[in-house]
Amino acid sequence: MKIGFIGLGNMGAPMARNLAAAGHEVTGFDLAAPDVEGVTPATSAAEAAKGAEVVITMLPNGQILRSVAAQVIAAMERGAVLCDCSTVDVESARAVADQAHAAGLGTLDAPVSGGIGGASAGTLTFMVGGGEDAFATVRPLFDIMGQKAVHCGDAGAGQAAKICNNMILGAVMVATCEAFALAEKLDLDAQKLFDVVSTSSGYSWVSNAYCPVPGVGPKSPADNDYKPGFAAELMLKDLRLSQQAAEAVDADTPMGQLATDLYGRFVEAEDGRGRDFSAMLPRLAARGRNG
Ligand code: NAD
Repeated sequence: MKIGFIGLGNMGAPMARNLAAAGHEVTGFDLAAPDVEGVTPATSAAEAAKGAEVVITMLPNGQILRSVAAQVIAAMERGAVLCDCSTVDVESARAVADQAHAAGLGTLDAPVSGGIGGASAGTLTFMVGGGEDAFATVRPLFDIMGQKAVHCGDAGAGQAAKICNNMILGAVMVATCEAFALAEKLDLDAQKLFDVVSTSSGYSWVSNAYCPVPGVGPKSPADNDYKPGFAAELMLKDLRLSQQAAEAVDADTPMGQLATDLYGRFVEAEDGRGRDFSAMLPRLAARGRNG
């Protein structure tokens, strides 16, 4: 397949490399002009998109997506598919889809989970919104870049699934860290609490697969001095997108809002930037009820 790939950063570069390694003809563009194995560099987003059957974007946010989409939509041929894999606000995803449909293109919003490790290994999970035909066209590419692609519904449904999942993740991480910080002050051994929680009703992916306590549970960023992993500022980005969406549709999300405020303080006023989002544990453990 002839593929245009725009946004060759931490995630986009390994994704594009995997597509090229599988034998697809990939032309790439990024403002930073990185060298990506197997990917032919273009001098603009429009040039990368020209003649492509599928154009994939992997960009920082919705505003940049909208501006790149305006350039590539004009360069794409009718019937081609624009597939955005960035994490962006639902509104931008739907606006780009409308614009592309008006130009006779198929569209998908297909944000991912699995991080940089998953992008390199080709084991991402894609949460996909958009039409059946577009999904069928891009599915073989999802199978190369990832291990699972869930078709969640129409345009915007992929982004909606991503932010709902990550709103749960943020709130559960905070709740789990609170419990381990409380246990320490109650002189309850962290390993003992893990042994109970991991097989009791308080268990979750956070406690069982990504335990925020060093030396407890399977290996996680806590065992590597809280180096990410999933950085606190990326968690904050997704939590803010969840609250933006909740605001737009008048949904009551008090736990999501609290987690957003807490990660906002951690990243912007404290030392959370550049640390894994599970570093919420030492932050809470170092404080008392009044700060
Ligand atoms: P990144 O900053 O490493 O990459 C973004 C790239 O886009 C950069 O290389 C930048 O130069 C390029 N870019 C910016 N504006 C551009 C433009 N106008 N034209 C062309 N290129 C442009 O970010 P990343 O970590 O690769 O993340 C990309 C997306 O994936 C984000 O939306 C992020 O939220 C999402 N995501 C990231 C992770 C992760 O672990 N890093 C996990 C899941 C989802």
